[in-house]
Amino acid sequence: MSEKLRAKKKFGQNFLQDQSVIERIINAFNPQKGEEIFEIGPGHAALTEHLVEYSDNLNLVEIDNDLVPRLQVKFDRKTNVTIHHLDALLLKFENNNTRIIGNLPYNISTPLLISFLYQSDKIKDMVFMLQKEVVKRICAPVGIKDYGRLSVMLQYAFECEELFIVPPEAFDPRPKIDSQIIRLTTRPNPPKVDLPALEALVKQAFGQRRKTIKNNLKKIITEQQLIDLNIDPKARPETLTVQDYVNITNSFEK
Ligand code: SAM
Repeated sequence: MSEKLRAKKKFGQNFLQDQSVIERIINAFNPQKGEEIFEIGPGHAALTEHLVEYSDNLNLVEIDNDLVPRLQVKFDRKTNVTIHHLDALLLKFENNNTRIIGNLPYNISTPLLISFLYQSDKIKDMVFMLQKEVVKRICAPVGIKDYGRLSVMLQYAFECEELFIVPPEAFDPRPKIDSQIIRLTTRPNPPKVDLPALEALVKQAFGQRRKTIKNNLKKIITEQQLIDLNIDPKARPETLTVQDYVNITNSFEK
């Protein structure tokens, strides 16, 4: 059980080894007693060892058959820890105010964030380590090049906050890219919209970024309808706000 496991690329395994980075992430998350916490991909428990001290309801979600038995042994005596041997993409949260933390496997980070978006009514906040480029895209303000599908969808439901950058040296094995910590806090009253319809619309709108919004949406909305929604038909997709995309989506309901 104690022999060293080789990191698995298919599970995006880069294990944190820099204690100062680990402490900064835990401080940013600030776990408290009484909270229900889910950690995605605990791995060798770099973050978990700290979380277990602060949380009385800690859920670990790990897919790797080799890591799960080690976690079971390590936390055998901890009654506050539940281990879910599960693909995090299948997670369904049951309680409100769930808090989530994770040094996410980069290969599934986008579908995972979308899955959590669909469950945002159950989520209080999330602190994640992601590829730096992905954090920039999520948090990008309207009008800049990085603002795209992921920005609109996640900013619809969450306040997005860029925290600190983590260099490759903090991990074993070292990834080829910089990572960054992000905090996503659920907005209390996001505008009403059919989320799958918004997602489909935004995909269409950003289909060809260099074209105008009128062109990208020509199969589904007329120039006059855009004008009626106070949207310039000649605008590029990255210049429309989240509310503009919500308004277009809601105009189909009428
Ligand atoms: N938290 C550890 C750390 O910071 O050192 C490990 C982070 S490592 C980047 C990602 C972890 O997620 C690995 O333990 C990996 O096995 C796990 N993982 C990968 N895909 C997963 C999935 N679909 N569901 C749950 N866990 C997954």
